[in-house]
Amino acid sequence: MYTAIGYAAQSATTPLAPMSFQRRSPRPDDVAIEILYCGVCHSDIHQARNEWGIAVYPLMPGHEIVGKVTAIGANVSKHKVGDLVGVGCMVDSCRHCEACAADLEQYCLQGPTMTYATPDRVDGSNTMGGYSDSIVVSEHFVVCIPEKLDLASAAPILCAGITTYSPLKHYGVKPGDKVGILGMGGLGHMGIKFAKALGAEVTLFTRSASKAEEARRQGADHVVVSTDAAQMQSVAGHFNFLLDTIPVPHDLNPYLDTLRFDGVHILVGLIEPVDPALHAGKLVMSRRVLAGSLIGGIAETQEVLDFCAEHGITCDIEMLDIRQINEAYERMIKGDVKYRFVIDMASLKG
Ligand code: NDP
Ligand code: ZN
Repeated sequence: MYTAIGYAAQSATTPLAPMSFQRRSPRPDDVAIEILYCGVCHSDIHQARNEWGIAVYPLMPGHEIVGKVTAIGANVSKHKVGDLVGVGCMVDSCRHCEACAADLEQYCLQGPTMTYATPDRVDGSNTMGGYSDSIVVSEHFVVCIPEKLDLASAAPILCAGITTYSPLKHYGVKPGDKVGILGMGGLGHMGIKFAKALGAEVTLFTRSASKAEEARRQGADHVVVSTDAAQMQSVAGHFNFLLDTIPVPHDLNPYLDTLRFDGVHILVGLIEPVDPALHAGKLVMSRRVLAGSLIGGIAETQEVLDFCAEHGITCDIEMLDIRQINEAYERMIKGDVKYRFVIDMASLKG
């Protein structure tokens, strides 16, 4: 064991504050990592504030981790000391169920071990995330950061990137498809870039008319202001796919109307009951599909990093001093970040 430091919430109502804690010494299959950068995901806010009802305190968020390997266990072959590596939302899974065998560890039938606020499979300790100076993770759950990528802007690919890439690939988005992205925050702005890179015609749905110009710079061909009924009506029956990153319950009915027959509405932001109720006829009468998707497997996380390196895709980031993390949460809730905060971990020692 060794002493690590980081920022954690002690309860749903207390701000994040510095905390010392123990990290394990590397097990034979472990990689010890000095964290250089960690992205700030809206899930971190949901969890720190127990908005999903599953938080375990102290809760140290952070699952968009980039760093340098400082030590390896005796059986590690995938990484070596000095390598630049990443850790996303998961740090373990059962490794033998049908989902794990299919490289879909996120759907592990026994439940994956998440990077924070989940019991470790070996010692039962509460996992602590990346708002920290270091982390120790089994090598299978550690990916390589391609040399071409800037380290800080690569960090959000570990969650915002894979979460938007995976469903677009799974549902086979192809050139000419019409894809709508709902919400332009951390996930949404990456969704625009990936849908564009896959050859789709991309439309951003946003509450914020002021984001229109910026969305076009991100690669969106069109922008629909979702609060404007006439604009919503103008795209009725238009889309093959919608990728919905809105982080709060919202009315899905007007969005379903914008899908073609056989169109697919993919939820990634919403894990609560749908409210207001869904009109099932909007699915039945046009064979539309309402779907969901959770991050992506480890192999696919490596794939999306390599895809970003190959296609020159990066996240738009705002570098954050960790001492400003609580203010950053407030700004994210207001939609005031372009488009991902990334903590410079040097500020933890500042
Ligand atoms: P951000 O806060 O960065 O972005 C969310 C965007 O949604 C905002 O920029 C805004 O876009 C829109 N939005 C925000 N509040 C509202 C509101 N009240 N009504 C309508 N639209 C709103 O969040 P992230 O991109 O980090 O995360 C988005 C969601 O995805 C979160 O719920 C997060 O927990 C979830 N998530 C899911 C994952 C999965 O595996 N399924 C993985 C990672 C995150 P605009 O101003 O353009 O309208
Ligand atoms: Zn996330």
